[in-house]
Amino acid sequence: MALLPATPQRPAASRAAVGPADTLRRLRCRPTPRCSRCPIWVRRERPFLCLGLSRPLLPGTTAMPAPPCASCHTARAALRRPRSGRALCGACFCAAFEAEVLHTVLAGRLLPPGAVVAVGASGGKDSTVLAHVLRELAPRLRISLRLVAVDEGIGGYRDVALAAVRRQAARWDLPLTIVAYADLFGGWTMDAVARSTAGSGRSRNCCTFCGVLRRRALEEGARLVGATHIVTGHNADDMAETVLMNFLRGDTARLARGGGLGSRGEGGALPRCRPLQLASQKEVVLYAHFRRLDYFSEECVYAPEAFRGHARDLLKRLEAARPSVALDLVHSAECLALAPAALPPAPGACSRCGALASRALCQACALLDGLHRGRPRLAIGKGRRGLAEEGPPGARGAGLAV
Ligand code: SF4
Repeated sequence: MALLPATPQRPAASRAAVGPADTLRRLRCRPTPRCSRCPIWVRRERPFLCLGLSRPLLPGTTAMPAPPCASCHTARAALRRPRSGRALCGACFCAAFEAEVLHTVLAGRLLPPGAVVAVGASGGKDSTVLAHVLRELAPRLRISLRLVAVDEGIGGYRDVALAAVRRQAARWDLPLTIVAYADLFGGWTMDAVARSTAGSGRSRNCCTFCGVLRRRALEEGARLVGATHIVTGHNADDMAETVLMNFLRGDTARLARGGGLGSRGEGGALPRCRPLQLASQKEVVLYAHFRRLDYFSEECVYAPEAFRGHARDLLKRLEAARPSVALDLVHSAECLALAPAALPPAPGACSRCGALASRALCQACALLDGLHRGRPRLAIGKGRRGLAEEGPPGARGAGLAV
């Protein structure tokens, strides 16, 4: 029985550059100057968000005024929280958002006092919001922050995003370090990888390479700045997409790791965590909007080819029927118990770089090895003698490293 219509092809328009207003539209929030469904919320002097009122007003009826904020009871509400449905003003929403991130960090004991935290900064909304919130919370958590950005070498995309990261670092007075794929990986940039994989008809695997290499690059950058912990801006929607992709690809090795809020740093790796993992993407965008954060919102040129886009589209449609679906999916993955036969073998050390590896070579070294040998398909386990056949079935597929 088909529960959902077939997944449509992603429209060509999604490849075009997008701005903050497009981001909101994609998330089904409406910048109000154009919102015809809830005219009472229109404020021409600044873009207000509609409250998600789904039905247009009937002709001849008058719109209800915005309710008072459910928290401070003085200001008018400016949004309705997607998950709880509470109508809040912008200031109360931002305070609640920050309090929830603080609770996530404290309850999960993610960042101990005195930690030097490397924030993976991409210039996008998630890492921008994460850096801003942690900067607000830093005195209370007694941590110090460093921004670490990774230059994947994607012409016309990453260079613009890095400009946004530099502006943020200057505005917040945070030290910024940029590490480049070209320096770390023997001259390989993502554009060079794309050219190489396109030759084998596998350009859609760019994100597989990029996710693995970026994880390594972030680790190197964090060590460079003397960090003790790494934080990334993955939100609940990102995590749900990853869980869904792992299910769809049968990647039991990643499913077996469960969700959790991060890793404690096995095999000498730095501990990583995701303080925004319980925040929805909509709320991340709303926080950036109310705090007037300057972020970069164009889509990577390789993103339309990524498998993740299909998982994202599916989740968006599921979310329309069940708003909590992203968190529910992450929770399900955390509670999964795999049969012993499906569990991956205990990881060892990469014979080349010493990083954690479930085979002789870690994923990053294996990918680079395949690229150097002119066998990108072998590197991602697509060839007849690919890595998938050399290792356990559960260890295949990389995608976005989480
Ligand atoms: Fe890398 Fe893919 Fe993200 Fe582009 S979309 S930055 S190629 S992981």
